Amino acid sequence: MPQLTMTDHSVELARLKRRLEREHHARLEAEQIAENGLRELYEQQRRLQLLEAIAVKANQTSTLNDMLQFTLTQLCQFTHWPLGHAYVSLPKQCDRLYPTAIWHNYLTDEDAVEDFCRTTEMTFFDRGIGLPGRVLATGEAAWITDIAKDRDFVRQASAQQLGLKTAFAFPVLAGQHVAAVLEFFSTQEIQPDAELLHTMAQIGMQLGRVVERQMAEERLKHDAFHDSLTGLPNRTLFLDRLQHAMNYQKRHPKYLFAVLFVDLDRFKVVNDSLGHLAGDQLLSQIVPRLLTTLRSEDTVARIGETRDIKDTLARLGGDEFTLLLDDIHSPNDAMRVAERIQHTLTTLPFSINEQAVYASASIGIATADQQTSAEDLLRNANLAMYRAKSLGGACCELFDQSMHVRAVNRLIIENDLRRALVDNHFILHYQPIVSFKTGAIVGFEALVRWQKNATTLIYPNDFIYIAEDTGLILLLDMWVLQQACRTMRQWQIDFPQQQPLTISVNLSARLFAQNNLVEQVQAIINATGINPASVRLEITESMTMDDAERSVQILSRLKEIGVHLSIDDFGTGYSSLSYLHRFPADILKIDRSFISRMDDSPECFQIIQSIMNLARNLGMDVIAEGPETAAHVQQLQALDCDFGQGYFFSRPVDEQKATALLHGACVYSMLTKDTVIPSLSA
Ligand code: C2E
Ligand code: MG
Ligand code: MG
Repeated sequence: MPQLTMTDHSVELARLKRRLEREHHARLEAEQIAENGLRELYEQQRRLQLLEAIAVKANQTSTLNDMLQFTLTQLCQFTHWPLGHAYVSLPKQCDRLYPTAIWHNYLTDEDAVEDFCRTTEMTFFDRGIGLPGRVLATGEAAWITDIAKDRDFVRQASAQQLGLKTAFAFPVLAGQHVAAVLEFFSTQEIQPDAELLHTMAQIGMQLGRVVERQMAEERLKHDAFHDSLTGLPNRTLFLDRLQHAMNYQKRHPKYLFAVLFVDLDRFKVVNDSLGHLAGDQLLSQIVPRLLTTLRSEDTVARIGETRDIKDTLARLGGDEFTLLLDDIHSPNDAMRVAERIQHTLTTLPFSINEQAVYASASIGIATADQQTSAEDLLRNANLAMYRAKSLGGACCELFDQSMHVRAVNRLIIENDLRRALVDNHFILHYQPIVSFKTGAIVGFEALVRWQKNATTLIYPNDFIYIAEDTGLILLLDMWVLQQACRTMRQWQIDFPQQQPLTISVNLSARLFAQNNLVEQVQAIINATGINPASVRLEITESMTMDDAERSVQILSRLKEIGVHLSIDDFGTGYSSLSYLHRFPADILKIDRSFISRMDDSPECFQIIQSIMNLARNLGMDVIAEGPETAAHVQQLQALDCDFGQGYFFSRPVDEQKATALLHGACVYSMLTKDTVIPSLSA
């Protein structure tokens, strides 16, 4: 075995030493790697905890400000950066940021902190200005490693005084819109940290969801209180404002306010003739004009307290608008506003589909006293509006208590009417129509009466309009037609020797507007077995003029099934002569108002004469409504009028008396043009 020399020993020692060192290094390295890994793991865990805390909070809160404050605190603690700000952009002023939250810690120079924060608050961070403005403009995060070297950093002096070196900011995006910006500062110089930026982007997204949720909630809230077409407050919000005004009035008895109920006149005509889209367009165009009539002054009360009430325009639906007029001196102020509204609506036409459309409104005004509720007040204004409408529209009425009494009565009548229809409490009276030439009865007009009880008979003028409004008229008119046809059929059988008598029946506007009118009439003719040529349906001019084209069609179809048509109350409504000649009517009934004034008004006489000429030219017969005296009859005869229906011959009488007239073969003798002697008077 060879002997190891001294040199060999030292070589071996050196080798072992090197090996030991290598192993030591390797161990150190391994330890370093392990430690780094651990730290990374730890950092990652902190990041996850941060993200989780923010996600949890984002799920719980729906207000952005709350969320921003929370995030600021969390992030400053996470990064150990000592200062942070949050800014929001307002939905309607999204070109500017407003500071909303601040967080700072570890900064000892309180004065310098305050100075920096004040500078921040006083700076307008418009799009592109300063660090937050840059983020607002780009929608992306921004990192400034050394504030001193950044030429666009507007708060440089106070930042340096505070010892701030590095800054970064990131946006909160709701869709494309930068809803908020968060910025952070460090007193050390730190290079851009990709990991951190990534985390911030994730946080920005979380906050974006809160913004979107908040916006959706606000939209929902807005929609619940606003009208979708015009964006005006709706009924709910209006009533709420009204309630505020009423509460205020309770505390300040001198405070006065008014409610205006504005309903457009003939809006239905626009809707029906130009279509619903055109109707919507008209409403949208009307709103800005209505808004100009409101006072623009602020909400500070003149009688000394700041209130949250102001003039409010709302849309209740359809063509109904309401206006709350705040703090007026007297109802006259409200009247003046109503006049302004009329003026602004009527002076210039609206342009719908390049067509000029004129508008006007019926306006009702009500003021409150201590007793009324918000609902009552609105109802009162509504009643006053109805009054304005019944006066022909385009005018304004102030509510008074009698309107309420009338409305209550009306409701009672309405209910009674319904019951009367079910219990069959209606009867027909018949008024003879007499030939001026022969003096013979040629037919009857059936006139409905309401037998309220054994002693009370109610005439149509006191209930027909209510039946019209409620739609009960549809049933009533059909009942009248059926009953009248049945009676006439019987008379025709019982009195065969006379030329076939005719039966005239009034049609209501409501029934005339029904699509199945012709079918309904046909069904009754079939059911009663009457010859349709004996049936005369009476319509008025105003019923036909709303939609004259349709009227021509309906009337033609009625003619086709064989019935005759009369134009009732002629001369009182609005006529378009151009349509009149297209209406296949057989008879004109001259309104009673002309006949009754014939004696003392030469004008009336002339009007009758012109109507006679018109009728002749159109090939129609003429019935004079309401001749009461021999003089009337003479004059009408002189004018060569065909028929008369008036008290001179007979009042409307019940079926029994009408039958008696026929039995007596009543002929009103008109011996000469000067003497007329009725042979029988009912
Ligand atoms: P109208 O169709 O013009 O009927 C004629 C009205 O004039 C009747 O009133 C009749 O009694 C009245 N009258 C007739 N001759 C004279 C006269 O010489 N002097 C005076 N002062 N009045 C006379 P009434 O029965 O009260 O009916 C009023 C209106 O009610 C009718 O006017 C008609 O528009 C409507 N009406 C009546 N019955 C019905 C019905 O069944 N359905 C519908 N929809 N309306 C009806
Ligand atoms: Mg009539
Ligand atoms: Mg009439």
